[in-house]
Amino acid sequence: MQIDTRCPVCGRLDEDGGHCFLKCKYVKHCWAALGLEHVRSCLLEANSANQMVKMILDLDTETKLGSIACLWACWETRNKVNAGEQRRSAEDTARRATLLKVDASLIEKVPKQGNEVKRRQHWKRPPAEQLKINCDGAFIESEKTGGWGFIIRDLRAMGF
Ligand SMILES: [Zn+2]
Repeated sequence: MQIDTRCPVCGRLDEDGGHCFLKCKYVKHCWAALGLEHVRSCLLEANSANQMVKMILDLDTETKLGSIACLWACWETRNKVNAGEQRRSAEDTARRATLLKVDASLIEKVPKQGNEVKRRQHWKRPPAEQLKINCDGAFIESEKTGGWGFIIRDLRAMGF
């Protein structure tokens, strides 16, 4: 079976995780537009995806959110191009990342609803050498706004 393994974004090189998120000419522009080239350079040193995630989690909150938003926006652009949509500019993807970062920042500031039903859920630690991602999102129809967020934890995470 013939499979096109070229990067759908730049169409130049074979796509793997390193190319998709760090080495593609297009994503390099996104990282630079967000002022995160120094982070991208450091992440190139990672030996595995797991190590890259740990490096990101060790960043200060602002840089961490920006980096995660950049990765998310680049992945989103890649998937849209792969689905046949026209590629948006690197600057547009960087703007999308900035919006995602702002959304993520706002989530922690949203006050809890007084009538919210508390559910008893017990979070379980992931097995060693695995990371667990929990995510959630919400939309306030009357305000036409919403947000999303996620957290990545490993075995060392504090359970609650
Ligand atoms: Zn590429």
